[in-house]
Amino acid sequence: MTGGRHDRTTFDIAVAGSAEVGEGPIWDDVTGELLWVDIPAGLIHRWRPGTTAVSTIVVGQPVGAIALRRSGGLVAAVRDGFALIDQKSGKVELRCPVEIDRVENRMNDGKCDGAGRFWAGTMALDSRPGVGSLYRLDPDLTVTTILTEVSISNGLGWAPDDRTMYFVDSPAQAIDAFDFDAERGLLSNRRRLAAIEVEAGMPDGLTVDSAGFVWVALWGGGAIRRYSPTGDLVDTVRLPATQLTSCTFGGPERRDLYVTSASRGLSAGERRRQPHAGALFRVRLDVPGHPVARFGG
Ligand code: CA
Repeated sequence: MTGGRHDRTTFDIAVAGSAEVGEGPIWDDVTGELLWVDIPAGLIHRWRPGTTAVSTIVVGQPVGAIALRRSGGLVAAVRDGFALIDQKSGKVELRCPVEIDRVENRMNDGKCDGAGRFWAGTMALDSRPGVGSLYRLDPDLTVTTILTEVSISNGLGWAPDDRTMYFVDSPAQAIDAFDFDAERGLLSNRRRLAAIEVEAGMPDGLTVDSAGFVWVALWGGGAIRRYSPTGDLVDTVRLPATQLTSCTFGGPERRDLYVTSASRGLSAGERRRQPHAGALFRVRLDVPGHPVARFGG
């Protein structure tokens, strides 16, 4: 295993490789495995720490995010909508088409709330602004539009008390917060948690720790930032790949922060300087993550 220190951060390469756009890491606390996707390649990877074998499901179209289902298997936000996936057979069943008439859009980041609803949004393939939306998929597979005029629907997460939801529309260069109605799955009172300067990179995927602080990956910034529930920047973890995409807590006591990255779009020179671009990184932290929920009632 390759490891090292980079700007005072101790990290290791959990899984080497050059994903085009590694994304959507989730920890399966039942099997002790990490799952993540490669969006444009349409792949879902699964790996157990301490081993080198990665098993892969070929989705057959871009896959933006996945979540574990309480009944087994996965729910996924694929290019064309919400799909159910059997992990054993790899069978992919598109159950709820989303924006199927808009071939220029695809689904992107997604995550489950504490009540087992899966939230995922869309974006234009050419990153045209304002044409995406955020959707909520309920356990009975009904789809509700939650937000419109989204540009690149990205990081999602909930405070440990389930009263606040965080959301990133990447080009807005900010993490937004909403009051969250956990019983009905509704949002209100949108406000800015933190603005992120353009030079620091574009906010992408996020996760929340057990103290309620938000960890956000910075695409183009080569860093993960930790923000307090009041929006103060309190920590920065730098890693040797500029295009960091998302992060989640896993491992023993859920204190390992797993970070996905991308190699897509790097020049030949950048690839030489970033031999780990596309790898899955692991950073050991003092604070554990808040458990991520599963889909289903
Ligand atoms: Ca993303």
